[in-house]
Amino acid sequence: MMGPQHALSGAATWLAGSWVAAQFFDYPQSATTIAVGAAVCAGGALLPDLDMSGKVTKGQGGSTVSRSFGVASLFVAEVIEKISVGVYTATKLSKDPDRHNGHRTLTHTLPFAALMGFGSIWLCTRYGRWAVIGILFFMFGFALRGLFDKWADRAGWVIVTITSGAAAYFAFNFLPSENRGYPMIGLAVGVGCIVHLMGDIVTRAGVPILWPIPTGRRMWRMIGLPDTFAIEAGSKVETTVLRTVFTIISLVAGAGLLAPALLKRFDIEL
Ligand SMILES: [Zn+2]
Repeated sequence: MMGPQHALSGAATWLAGSWVAAQFFDYPQSATTIAVGAAVCAGGALLPDLDMSGKVTKGQGGSTVSRSFGVASLFVAEVIEKISVGVYTATKLSKDPDRHNGHRTLTHTLPFAALMGFGSIWLCTRYGRWAVIGILFFMFGFALRGLFDKWADRAGWVIVTITSGAAAYFAFNFLPSENRGYPMIGLAVGVGCIVHLMGDIVTRAGVPILWPIPTGRRMWRMIGLPDTFAIEAGSKVETTVLRTVFTIISLVAGAGLLAPALLKRFDIEL
């Protein structure tokens, strides 16, 4: 899937999950917390594609997320891609094909999702305020790129960077303190990464979802849908059907979450 759909699927999953948590598990959240969680999950759902580099010196190419912060993030993507192909080559088994590009390897695994999620919680609890603002800053930047891709392209990375920084600062001040807010950030990052993997599994190329469990002398078996069912990346089905489905889920879940608070505020009883 392409960046915008990944981000939207992350937001939709978080909103739907928050609605389920509020309805069935007696876990209500404030509107701000839900919004922050959805944005972080949308950003997290782009994180795995930070292994898709472009032309750093020209500031071109790369995935949506690699372009988030201009040349700086393109450079990071280049480094991550090289590390990924290195890990692939070092751990591949006899039946795994040779690779010269690390896209859809290391960052497209469940251990990576766990590392990002628990790593974020650890950073937040260990370093507090600035770690929280830092993580929010990156996730908001990614989310802006994904959810408002046309705007972000027009605005450019400077505006995206300033907007993300300001949003991260204000969001920090609204978040519930340590016990509840910090694990929530990590959970949203981790869930976002997993949602990304699910989004890539429905394409033909697939992802190495089993890694690091070897199967039939392959460590990096790409699991994806068979050709007949597979969704082609960037195809009409993806950009129209899936986009509409994710938008509807987000809107319905969002309405379900906000309705009780609104009814209460205006003293309406059902
Ligand atoms: Zn991907």
